[in-house]
Amino acid sequence: MDYDYTFKAMMLGDASVGKTSLTIRYISGSFLEDLKLTIGVDFYSKLTSFKNKKVKLQIWDFGGEERFRFLLSQYCRGANAAFFLYDITNPLTLEHLPDWTNIVRKYAGDIPIMLVGSKVDLEEFRAIPRDEGIRAANKYNLASFVELSSKTGQNVEKAFQVMCSILFEKYVYPNDEFLEL
Ligand code: GDP
Ligand code: MG
Repeated sequence: MDYDYTFKAMMLGDASVGKTSLTIRYISGSFLEDLKLTIGVDFYSKLTSFKNKKVKLQIWDFGGEERFRFLLSQYCRGANAAFFLYDITNPLTLEHLPDWTNIVRKYAGDIPIMLVGSKVDLEEFRAIPRDEGIRAANKYNLASFVELSSKTGQNVEKAFQVMCSILFEKYVYPNDEFLEL
């Protein structure tokens, strides 16, 4: 086997918050200006390492259109983690957080969910203060919070490293004293 551990992570959030851009930035290190709308679900995977272990992350990028909602229970099956994205320039995109956390917890159980404020390169158009994101993450018992930009790459690698640390803590070394990154 070419990896020690494998995890399935889901990208969730409204259309256009940047789910596909984040996935592609993380997988390939590039930012593509005109992505096609994701139809249904796209799958990606990346080999990375954490604490000297090889980790294969499978990333499931859900299109999110209403007409594909029927896929959600399947999509959530076997998931180990989720990223919920909202766009810091669009206040409506944070409002659907409780709907998504309910869906995830119903179909995937108590998996770690990271709240991701996307598009921080658009600071001048910011509509959601950082504090509001942090408050939402606490309110809905999420595992972590980060603001990032898939355009500049800011915090992208870090978000996935933090997710790996959370996954290791939960699934690999649940009883160990855990070292901070
Ligand atoms: P999805 O529908 O959630 O998969 O969103 P996409 O990844 O397709 O992105 C929607 C739009 O937002 C596209 O025009 C992207 O180029 C743009 N976008 C995504 N991430 C960023 C970012 O970090 N900064 C900026 N400025 N635009 C972004
Ligand atoms: Mg997409």
